[in-house]
Amino acid sequence: MPNGLEHGPLRKLPPEVRFEGRVLFLADDADLVRRQLSGEDLPWPSAIPLRDNISTDEITPAYICYYYDATLGDFPYLGLRAGGSFPITRGDVRAGGFVCSVAGTRRGKGSSREQSPYAEMCAGIRLVIAESIERIYRENCQNLGVFTSTDFGLIERIRRGEAIPLSEFTAGEGDITRGIIEHGGLFQFNLARLQGDVAVPPVRAPRRPLTLAEKIIARHWVTDLANDRVGVPHVQPGDEGFTRTDIRFSHEYVTPMAAIFWQELLGLDARIVDPGSVFLFRDHLTFLDLAMTDERKAEGLLDVALELKRKQEEFAADQGVKLYGELPRVGQGLHGIPVGSEAICHSKILESHALPGQLIIGSDSHTPHAGAIGALAFGVGTTAIFNSWLTKDVRLKVPPSVLIRLRGEKPDGVTAKDFMLQILRHPYVRDGHAIGKIVEYAGPAVEALSIDERATMTNMAAEVGAFTGIIRPDERAVEFLARERGLGPEEVRPLLAGLHSDPDAEYETTIEIDASVLEPMVALPGDPGNGLFIREIGARVKVDIAYAGSCTAGKKSDMDMYAAVFRDALDRGLRVADGVQCIVQCGSQEVKRYCEEQGYLEVFREVGAQFIEPSCGACINAGPGVSYDKDTVTISAINRNFPGRSGPGRLYLASPYTTAWSAVAGHIEAWEPGQVGVGA
Ligand code: SF4
Repeated sequence: MPNGLEHGPLRKLPPEVRFEGRVLFLADDADLVRRQLSGEDLPWPSAIPLRDNISTDEITPAYICYYYDATLGDFPYLGLRAGGSFPITRGDVRAGGFVCSVAGTRRGKGSSREQSPYAEMCAGIRLVIAESIERIYRENCQNLGVFTSTDFGLIERIRRGEAIPLSEFTAGEGDITRGIIEHGGLFQFNLARLQGDVAVPPVRAPRRPLTLAEKIIARHWVTDLANDRVGVPHVQPGDEGFTRTDIRFSHEYVTPMAAIFWQELLGLDARIVDPGSVFLFRDHLTFLDLAMTDERKAEGLLDVALELKRKQEEFAADQGVKLYGELPRVGQGLHGIPVGSEAICHSKILESHALPGQLIIGSDSHTPHAGAIGALAFGVGTTAIFNSWLTKDVRLKVPPSVLIRLRGEKPDGVTAKDFMLQILRHPYVRDGHAIGKIVEYAGPAVEALSIDERATMTNMAAEVGAFTGIIRPDERAVEFLARERGLGPEEVRPLLAGLHSDPDAEYETTIEIDASVLEPMVALPGDPGNGLFIREIGARVKVDIAYAGSCTAGKKSDMDMYAAVFRDALDRGLRVADGVQCIVQCGSQEVKRYCEEQGYLEVFREVGAQFIEPSCGACINAGPGVSYDKDTVTISAINRNFPGRSGPGRLYLASPYTTAWSAVAGHIEAWEPGQVGVGA
């Protein structure tokens, strides 16, 4: 039993709950919102025009997420647009004494950031009512102990001071969700599990053929947390429970808030369970200083953001947990000039830690990166990370699986990125049918890829909207682990035993793609699903920025591709075109060393590309390579091009080959095949 919790008091909510406070209607009318903030309680029922589609970006805009503690309670709804203006300012909700907040349809859509319900909670909101509530936002609320409901009849009852039976919030929920609500959040539920006070219902899946992912889930299924028992013979989609993790990691956007939860609920002396399997990363905001506007700096936001770095460093040192941090700044202290990171989180996890058959959680949506060697890796929220530090496990509902098989032999010059842009424009994926599912990539064209290239595919399971992406580990995984980690085949091959899908395993659907007819692709600005073959884009698209980097495109094989194109350009007497800013940014120091050994840094320099140290950088609008106006055109090998992702400009996605060649051509153009000799 970790941290002496075996005798700690357990908290369970009473069978009835009272909500003492006012009701805030998030109306699509700024005047109505302001009148409530000034103390007026609007009549209900009435025809209040409730806001639909309130995203987590509106509840807590991205820059608000630089805060990580109860200060967030000053900010809920700061980005809420009501009738064309933003009526809510800092401190309004807290000062208004609101306990319940009401909205229309699809409340909490968009990013899965847990800062949103936490900000609401810290401002006093205990109940969220809406016509419909997005799944992840709702789960985040449940994990934090914030009630959710679609029953508008509650409004009158709250105003009358009625006690509401707890069962009204648990009706129709599965055993685990019901337990979490009844315990007031995931942490209290887990305490009860640790003390053996609640038991997760056993899995009752019949004997059945399993997919690779289902086998890994079954091996990691926690049957008795208090007595440390793990493993069931079978699982099936829909089974709900907890799975033991092998690796847990988080980055600076998430660690500080999880650390606050840890310290507030467990105390400064509490120790993370198995700290050797926990990793922290400073990667997302390393170069923020160079990208943040002077206006935001004047508001003090850079100092707030730098607190994320400081808090994470303090927590890592206190817990004795490995932190892949920031490189020493040039000049003194936090305000020295940033140089870069040791590594981007999931790049490093694949490079140095993940093994086939492991179950890995991370605080980033691209955690599935490690699926390239047959690990089951998926992203989770702040409360899940914090709880995993205590229990070493994570809540999971077994998703259905989808098989994407690429047959045939891909043409030279076509890469895993092109595979993904083709997959993302497939109607099944584009229409959202793969959301929340396990995507298994298979087929000869996938088997022919290097592990780095496979990682591009599993990484971009996030863009598919999948729960995770995974590829059967094979001899390429054995070679990769020998080359990158020095592991002998005799150590790795036993890990592969059983790590394949059974021949008659069940998939919700199978998508077949003929790789032999694919061509280099580009995704038009706005969405990674806007893919076209380059020859289909019509008029010539002039390029201002070429960004060759990120977790998806900062691996060794990506560097091989950039270097191959640039060497070819130099041989032809060409350099990066005039007026084009070309940046190459690798995913880890290991990749940088590889570039040095291969002589790539000289190639990049000679061709006119700027090489910068590892970090998420421009990929998250926080580093060199971002755009500053809407007319700027960027070609980028990153994984997503949602509006505003790397600044206000127009961002096209493409393969490393296309990104590098477009930098030289000055417009979007595929690299002519024939010179391909390395990499993919
Ligand atoms: S490089 Fe981009 S996609 Fe990858 S972890 Fe960083 S922000 Fe996310």
